[in-house]
Amino acid sequence: MTIKDEMKRRRTFAIISHPDAGKTTMTEKMLLFGNMIRSAGTVKGKKSGKFATSDWMEIEKQRGISVTSSVMNFPYKGYQINILDTPGHEDFSEDTYRTLTAVDSVVMVIDGTKGIEAQTLKLFKVCKMRGIPIFTFINKMDREGRESLDLMEEIESTLNIETYPMTWPVGMGKRFMGVFDRENEQFVQYTGNEEETYIPFSELDQHPELTNHPTYQESLDELMLVDEAGDGFDLDKVMKGDQTPVFFGSALAPFGVETFFNTFINYAPEPAPRHSTEGVVTPDNEEFSGFIFKIQANMNPQHRDRVAFVRICSGKFERGMNVNLSRTGKTFKLAQSQQFVASSSSTVEEGYAGDIIGIYDPNVYRIGDTLVTGKNNFEYDELPQFPPELFKKVTAKNVMKSKQFKKGLEQLVQEGAIQLFKHYHFEDYIIGAVGELQYEVFDYRMKNEYNVDIELTSIGERIPRWIPEEQVDQSMFDDRNMLVLDREQKPLVLFKNDFSLRWFQDKYKDIELIDLFEVN
Ligand code: GDP
Repeated sequence: MTIKDEMKRRRTFAIISHPDAGKTTMTEKMLLFGNMIRSAGTVKGKKSGKFATSDWMEIEKQRGISVTSSVMNFPYKGYQINILDTPGHEDFSEDTYRTLTAVDSVVMVIDGTKGIEAQTLKLFKVCKMRGIPIFTFINKMDREGRESLDLMEEIESTLNIETYPMTWPVGMGKRFMGVFDRENEQFVQYTGNEEETYIPFSELDQHPELTNHPTYQESLDELMLVDEAGDGFDLDKVMKGDQTPVFFGSALAPFGVETFFNTFINYAPEPAPRHSTEGVVTPDNEEFSGFIFKIQANMNPQHRDRVAFVRICSGKFERGMNVNLSRTGKTFKLAQSQQFVASSSSTVEEGYAGDIIGIYDPNVYRIGDTLVTGKNNFEYDELPQFPPELFKKVTAKNVMKSKQFKKGLEQLVQEGAIQLFKHYHFEDYIIGAVGELQYEVFDYRMKNEYNVDIELTSIGERIPRWIPEEQVDQSMFDDRNMLVLDREQKPLVLFKNDFSLRWFQDKYKDIELIDLFEVN
């Protein structure tokens, strides 16, 4: 196969969802399709003692490498599937967001009994900001949930995206009978068996037990409505992230997952060309290139090694090849490389655009770094900064250690482990994070790598908004609306809560506050 053939069959995506919506169960079912695991087993293997396929966190902890997202890859129907994990719960961090810079599409799993939840919304906003195609799976149809039309409406209004139901459910909970598969013009019957049963639309009249059922009739009416009043399927819009194809099912049953997955991989985009300092780089370019979107420092003191995660953007990766680090112009040999699968990491010999490889980091790489072969040491666009939500004041416990303190702070910030701010007037350092876990890692690494004990004082959850320099008037600010500077000396306000933000906006109407997250 040529480089072009190889890259064309890559499907690299992440599943975004709120904790408990069913991401793990869904991933597990996908791995089953890829024959990566023998039986689905129980979802939370931790509890049953069985292996929980998607609980990468735990696996990584056991291996000694800990914290943040990983990758699973497997072949399916001629495609090469790469699924990137987006950790939630207490593991939510900037890495979770950054993972979204390394994917070509996203699967949004929504709990049909709950609708859109906080974490889904946050991750969705990043996808929308980057124009990533989003495919939606409404899960838990085997339980009594929200009306499907309601859910469509909620997705459209809350997320500001068009919906196109690819499948439409008949009933839910105990009355769940299956889904109309509009794409393949067939009814997928819910039988309780793992194998999906398909009835072509043209043969439905031979199934009066189904078509005479009031629930079926009701759903058919809804479908007619969706057909007439809803938006038509528009792949261009999907590719821009302006329309999301929606599927219904149950990851647990499992039901509708296969129907979803087959349509998804068909429409999900192959690796796209990317912007760089040398213009657009196409994924079938002969020269290898990629960028680092995550660096995993080992928390186990016995294994100080670090792994840098590279998203390949063009060319062919071969183990042992020499690459240039564009930022410094230095050349490195990529001898120790790993690919990530469900059960363990294994050595990877080659890779193509869309693939994710882990390379040994002798402490030289930074998040956002570009690796290339060939004459041009170009760099891919910088990774975006994501808005932190938690803020803490940080000081060194021992003032004598201020030199190491500053060095550690500087390096960890540069690495993207944490974001640094300074009080507008005082010498106070304030660090911002997306999740609590980042502080734990920060604290640990300051102690172990820089030999500095730090003191963290929480100033709580805050809403950061940037403010034009010329509009700063110090009398506007106090502890509730704290004025700080970011690393580029740009002023921003850390608002105590929604209320103080609104109060401020009302009082100073002509001040233009900027949200990093602003979607539109
Ligand atoms: P995650 O936190 O998003 O990874 O969610 P899990 O996959 O761990 O699922 C959370 C809980 O919901 C588990 O108890 C699952 O068994 C359950 N669950 C997942 N999918 C379904 C489904 O389709 N139907 C029902 N009834 N429960 C489900």
